[in-house]
Amino acid sequence: MRFSALKILTEGLTGNKGWTPHWRDPEPKAEYDAIVIGGGGHGLSTAYYLAKNHGLRNVAVLEKGYIGGGNVGRNTTIVRANYFLPGNSEFYSHSLKLWEGLEEDLNYNVMHSQRGLINLFHSDGQRDAFARRGNAMINQGDDAILLDRDGVREILPYLDFDNARFPIYGGLYHPRGGTARHDAVAWGYARGADQRGVDLIQNCEVTGIDIENGQVRGVQTTRGAIRAKKVGLVVAGRSSQVAALAGMRLPIESHVLQAFVTEGLKPVIDHVISFGMGHFYISQSDKGGLVFGGDIDFYASYAQRGNLPMAEHVMEAGMALMPMIGKARVLRSWGGIMDMSPDGSPVIDATHIDGLFLNCGWCYGGFKAVPASGWCMAHLMATGTPHEHAAGFRLDRFETGRGLMDEEGTGAQHNLH
Ligand SMILES: Cc1cc2nc3c(=O)[nH]c(=O)nc-3n(C[C@H](O)[C@H](O)[C@H](O)COP(=O)(O)OP(=O)(O)OC[C@H]3O[C@@H](n4cnc5c(N)ncnc54)[C@H](O)[C@@H]3O)c2cc1C
Repeated sequence: MRFSALKILTEGLTGNKGWTPHWRDPEPKAEYDAIVIGGGGHGLSTAYYLAKNHGLRNVAVLEKGYIGGGNVGRNTTIVRANYFLPGNSEFYSHSLKLWEGLEEDLNYNVMHSQRGLINLFHSDGQRDAFARRGNAMINQGDDAILLDRDGVREILPYLDFDNARFPIYGGLYHPRGGTARHDAVAWGYARGADQRGVDLIQNCEVTGIDIENGQVRGVQTTRGAIRAKKVGLVVAGRSSQVAALAGMRLPIESHVLQAFVTEGLKPVIDHVISFGMGHFYISQSDKGGLVFGGDIDFYASYAQRGNLPMAEHVMEAGMALMPMIGKARVLRSWGGIMDMSPDGSPVIDATHIDGLFLNCGWCYGGFKAVPASGWCMAHLMATGTPHEHAAGFRLDRFETGRGLMDEEGTGAQHNLH
């Protein structure tokens, strides 16, 4: 089933009886050429590109819950390519280019909206750092504009410029940044993978990884044993637990990140804004809700809900930046489990076990990475060699110290990235 204007029109005129489910609900087979553990954004895009780019169609995605139930359906939907360090910048640049063609590629409306992202700065030092970042982005081929205070005021007149506790000095504007509808991205990739023959097996938790003589042989699941010579571990916040099934101890800590949404309001915030003096960022959804969030809860946890101290911190930062937000009523809040790496950058790499591949460490920024992560992970699983855009995402950098990508400059402390 392809979506088109004609299809929508004819379905509308004939009682909408011709729509079919987006993907099949198959029973797991006894054996696949490749298994992807985790039906989040990264797992689904990996399966999609395995089939599309490498012709591997005898593939299964094993998801312990339902498609879109993890972080891919819990994030605040920001898509951007404003990374500074080599290794990260070309990867996220590649990802943004894939985003720009994604709806056409998937024949699915993921509501990708390039409404522009503005990172505010509040001191001369911050201005210098953002100027350097902007130059790095431009050198990478992406877009960046350094705005002064008046430039920001013109675009975002509702911020507190006159009585602010942290005066706004300006902002780094990234016009191609924006948002996309998070669960539609999961559904679009799921549908695309299914159409190419990939089996999406929901309610199927991987409980063991079978390894013989240093080679992966398959997995044990709540729906029986499944054999495969290639297994990709793509489970985000659960990475340490699932890797432990293969006897691996990962340098990953899991922390909760919360998000908040208000009641629907008339359009007021056209861009994505991030505050430079506190942990706060905000955009407005197409339904009108103000969608905002801040930093991770500082303790390690697998509970998919956060705590009040961070909620208070986020609200305070929002009030400091735009006091008008105090009039809006918060409708919902939720949390997701972040796979925090020691340097804040991800891992897409083979492991010491033959046929077992690892994709993790996305911290709180993995949504924007979904297309490029799947693209590069599929390349790694299909060819056995790292993709050039993910060549720096090696696991052994945490052992050797070589090639660390500490984008935030905060040192090897998971909860500060
Ligand atoms: C509140 C919040 C805000 C965020 N905001 C942004 C943002 O604005 N921009 C951005 O770029 N990123 C953001 N992120 C981060 C982003 O959502 C994640 O980095 C990314 O979604 C993680 O990859 P994923 O989609 O594959 O994860 P998930 O969707 O969590 O997928 C992993 C899947 O693995 C499954 N799984 C786990 N264990 C097993 C098992 N044993 N067997 C089978 N399946 C298993 C899980 O059920 C899950 O569905 C945010 C995250 C949160 C929580």
